[in-house]
Amino acid sequence: MVDFDEALTLVLSTVERLPFANEALADALGCVLASDIVCLEDIPPFRRSTMDGYAVRSWDFHGGAPELRVVEEIPAGRVPRRTLEVGQASRIFTGGMMPKGADAVIIQEEAEPLGSGCVRFSSLPTPGQFVLGAGDIARTGDVLIEQGEVLAPPGIALLASVGITAVPAYPRPHAYVMSTGDELVEPEVRPGPAQVRNSNAPMLVGALQAAGVRVDYLGIATDDRGSLRPMLEKGLGGDILLVSGGVSVGTHDLVGKELEGAGVEPVFTRVAVKPGKPIFFGRRGPCIVFGLPGNTASSLVGFELFVRPALCKMRGLGDWPPKFLRGALATSVEMKRDRLTFLPAVSINERSGMVVRPLEWAGSADIRALVHANCLVAIPPGESPVPGGAEVDFVTFQWVGYCA
Ligand code: AMP
Ligand code: MG
Repeated sequence: MVDFDEALTLVLSTVERLPFANEALADALGCVLASDIVCLEDIPPFRRSTMDGYAVRSWDFHGGAPELRVVEEIPAGRVPRRTLEVGQASRIFTGGMMPKGADAVIIQEEAEPLGSGCVRFSSLPTPGQFVLGAGDIARTGDVLIEQGEVLAPPGIALLASVGITAVPAYPRPHAYVMSTGDELVEPEVRPGPAQVRNSNAPMLVGALQAAGVRVDYLGIATDDRGSLRPMLEKGLGGDILLVSGGVSVGTHDLVGKELEGAGVEPVFTRVAVKPGKPIFFGRRGPCIVFGLPGNTASSLVGFELFVRPALCKMRGLGDWPPKFLRGALATSVEMKRDRLTFLPAVSINERSGMVVRPLEWAGSADIRALVHANCLVAIPPGESPVPGGAEVDFVTFQWVGYCA
């Protein structure tokens, strides 16, 4: 049995960042960029109006507000044909290409078209107003986004705007999820006597997806070799396999043995934490495997403490959770602890500092308490109660949103 710190170190030293690939922009949301992305053309590529109005020559206004002759209309997408001469303006619309000779735009609200084909203005333009120059946003050769940044929607727009449709990035890991247990039926099936619904698989699939992972769910294997082996074998074809259940010491807990039989090298099989002591971690070639305990809350704690850090490293992120914060216990913890114990809790940022209130919890099958928790508080092993007000470590949940 390894302790928590040791286990985490073993996970992070076993897991490697995935090799970078050329990722299509459409698939690259949340990916870490493997190199600087350099601008291939000026943004914007041509000088354009940012408003609906009139393109003018600001010099024409030096003697006061003149009446200008409108020589052309320039909607977005049309190349102007006329160069503005003294006393001329062009009707122009947002995104329209500025005509040669013009250096400013007056918005249409400050213009009064006269019947004669002329226009009068109620304001004086300053040179360059409402004009976006070629290359004003970025110039050819600029670094648009740096290596190591996570690609987010604004970055996707920026790259698309210069025609970059694929980027060198660390791909999102491909995960397989499977559940094990003779007693399990899928959630849409009414359980028979002594059966339970498979709640772990949808939870783990969701947790993986929210962590930026591509997931395939394999189904339920029963507690026998004939059912386990082929499913494990398929699951070992991804970057990461999560197996739920069957990792404890009961006669029907065959997952560890079958994983080893399939050539997986175990790194650890038990961690001195509660809940979630039986947890298998191993590796076969490029695929890492976690065997998580069947109790739903234990499974989730295992995910948060060990799987998420592994995913973050695989994805090329620089920071790996869990990040422990410090806070004051709101109430005493009376239970005796033979190992590091994680309790579902609510952390609140109060004026005096962080306060952490453990929730009532019926143990590792109690997923309901976790629904209302925003963190896990770590209580060190010991016989004596930990009094209210004591400083403790806690780790906040990051269920939703790529762990950037
Ligand atoms: P195990 O880790 O296989 O010994 O399972 C421990 C407990 O978790 C048992 O009560 C199982 O019925 C339950 N369990 C196992 N797998 C699941 C699952 N996928 N969904 C919900 N409960 C499960
Ligand atoms: Mg089982």
